[in-house]
Amino acid sequence: MKPHSIGGQSAATTSPAEYDEAALRHDLAAAYRMIALMGMDDSIYTHISARLADGPDGQKRFLLNPFGLRFDEVTASTLVTIDELGNVLDDPYGAGVNAAGFTIHSAVHMARHDATCVLHTHTVAGVAISSVKEGLLPLNQWSAQFHGAIAYHDYEGIALDLDERSRIVSDLGAKNVMFLRNHGVLVCGRTIAEAVRLALNLERSCKAQIAALSMGLTPAPLSDNVAAHTAGQYASSYDEIIRSGNDPEWMAMLRLLDGKTPGYAA
Ligand SMILES: [Zn+2]
Repeated sequence: MKPHSIGGQSAATTSPAEYDEAALRHDLAAAYRMIALMGMDDSIYTHISARLADGPDGQKRFLLNPFGLRFDEVTASTLVTIDELGNVLDDPYGAGVNAAGFTIHSAVHMARHDATCVLHTHTVAGVAISSVKEGLLPLNQWSAQFHGAIAYHDYEGIALDLDERSRIVSDLGAKNVMFLRNHGVLVCGRTIAEAVRLALNLERSCKAQIAALSMGLTPAPLSDNVAAHTAGQYASSYDEIIRSGNDPEWMAMLRLLDGKTPGYAA
């Protein structure tokens, strides 16, 4: 049997259409722990969500972290089930969800049914790049994968106004990475593992840009052609992971979590 087998299936090797709720809960809890382990959490704020199958009335439903838990405290069984109207359908921890988190994540899940996972962070590096007009530059291999694939959404205040959802969706369009200006970043993944992969690589891109531009030397950005070629290479690699269901990087992350922060799957 493979490690991390749920109901006879590996969570990481199950395609989105076949994801069952147990597998989603497992991988989503792992995503919270991984983001925490990488130092990319923000106290009890920001969120990672996973789309569930539609409810009996066709309403969109998704899993979100319970308000008040740190990312390193989230477990598979404490995740909250919520619908697109904000109705809390199941809340084992009993603390509800953060209102701003609901606004942002419900907007994307209502519009982007290809996104199994929506991952939002406030890292110092991500907020820093979101706060400059030039945004993310093609300065290195990590950032090249995002060439031509980044959306930007202007800051309107803490996202408590549901009216902002239409502008979030409009700005995101069909892209999978969005800088929320002066605020943070948001990524969409076809699987939870893919969202984590994009978030980690985006974070590295931001850190590398800050480091490169802080030396007082002359930046050497990639040409459009090379950046576009590299983005295509990454896209092919990511498509192959989805097609094959073989995601060794995610399995490696799960083994890391087993050693560093066990108990997330409970
Ligand atoms: Zn935020």
